[in-house]
Amino acid sequence: MEKILNYINGEWIAPSNGQFLPNKNPATGADYSLVPDSDASDAEAAIFAAHAAFPAWSKTTVRERSHLIRKLADLIKENADTLAMEETIDNGKPLKIAGTVDIPRSELNFRFFADLAMSLHGEAYRSDSNTMSYTEHTPLGPVVCISPWNLPLYLLTWKIAPALAAGCTVVAKPSEVTPMTAYRLSQFTAQAGFPKGVLNFLHGRGSLLGEKLCTDPRVKAISFTGSTQTGRSISTLAAPLFKKLALEMGGKNPVVIFKDAEYEKMLTTVVRSSFSNQGQICLCGSRIFIEKPLYEQFKKDFVQRVSQLKVGDPLNSETDLGAVVSKSHMEKILSYIKKARDEGGRILTGGEQLKISGGYFVKPTVIENLDYLSSVNQDEIFGPVVTITPFDSEDHAVMMANSTRYGLAASVWTTDLNRSQRMARKIDAGIVWINTWMNRDLRTPFGGVKESGYGREGGIEALKFFSEVKTICIETSLENP
Ligand code: NAD
Repeated sequence: MEKILNYINGEWIAPSNGQFLPNKNPATGADYSLVPDSDASDAEAAIFAAHAAFPAWSKTTVRERSHLIRKLADLIKENADTLAMEETIDNGKPLKIAGTVDIPRSELNFRFFADLAMSLHGEAYRSDSNTMSYTEHTPLGPVVCISPWNLPLYLLTWKIAPALAAGCTVVAKPSEVTPMTAYRLSQFTAQAGFPKGVLNFLHGRGSLLGEKLCTDPRVKAISFTGSTQTGRSISTLAAPLFKKLALEMGGKNPVVIFKDAEYEKMLTTVVRSSFSNQGQICLCGSRIFIEKPLYEQFKKDFVQRVSQLKVGDPLNSETDLGAVVSKSHMEKILSYIKKARDEGGRILTGGEQLKISGGYFVKPTVIENLDYLSSVNQDEIFGPVVTITPFDSEDHAVMMANSTRYGLAASVWTTDLNRSQRMARKIDAGIVWINTWMNRDLRTPFGGVKESGYGREGGIEALKFFSEVKTICIETSLENP
């Protein structure tokens, strides 16, 4: 069984307490690797290394940093098939998703920020004939990047890449549930020739590491993606210390379908937006609102498509839905399906565990007849469970769409241009897709409103997040020597 190690100051080291946690394959329930159960003393070593490496790294040119970052992209590309396989075994997602989404996007994250770093520029103003003000970006310092299990390498690289490109040194804290591809990335970091201490990987549970990572005075920023509950704990610790925070958290995304929607495209995309990655993408739409005249037809066609989805071995190329990430997560999802029944919901398809090969499989589930305020419609389930609900008017749809504490993403399906603009303005969300889903231009900002997010990632926003900006004002005596 492979023993994953921390990568601190250019060396692979076991946690100082000698403890490891079992890492399971969710498709079989079997242990297949061991992950360090690191504690605060390991976090201290990682922060120490990042702090020591910062002065030299922050003085490198953007060109030098981008060159090294591109090497990471190249190594991901060279090892793409192995990484896709490892992501699948670690997470339970279908190999075809890991191979076409997770790993290519991880490579792209590095290439994108290596290029974009060249465009981070300041502002300059001539205030009067003797005075000019300009701004300069400087790297923030050592930063912490904490990522979740649903898109393990994809979301970790989405944080590491801009941090390194901006000139920060990094303590990366991948999810302890899916650590394998982060371990490979630590091996690529050594291979690429990064100076020691610039990029450190600290494995283990957030409950043991969070306090040290979020309160150490040497850490200047925390970029976090995960649940709203954890985001709140991080902010409770770090905000009073005035650390910079970017928190990407939970969602309960609405999908609003009008009767004039382009039907076939909408139906195919809504099946995908509901069940990709077993519904474990923060951007999946889990509350589907349908204009009343279209409701019965949509229900019939949607349920028929969903019931044809193939659930099973993630390594099989025919599989549409693999395993959910862990036994405890499967139990949480099943408990919400039970709640739906208790709250008067009608299960139209799915609604149960699929018991195969000891793994954690849940059939894709569609539920109707639930109040929009029911717990199933308000809490993030983060699994293959969606509800369908009819609406009467635009205002009715907006009211239900905005009724949760979340505001990450939304999709609207209509061919009426004016209505699409009205809906985009009225829905509380960081991103609104019109007649599409998961369509991301990496140059645009990314993040949520309400309890889904604080701060923005993506594009130039991410580079600015990892930078300090200084205004310099010069007065000359050009006019009156
Ligand atoms: P989680 O909050 O349990 O864990 C996320 C990370 O935080 C892990 O690395 C974990 O070890 C660490 N952590 C846990 N407790 C911590 C603490 N007290 N201090 C510091 N770090 C701590 O989330 P998860 O279960 O891994 O991921 C699922 C959640 O992530 C869902 O809520 C989902 O919506 C959210 N998510 C959001 C986005 C987004 O972009 N908004 C993207 C993906 C996932």
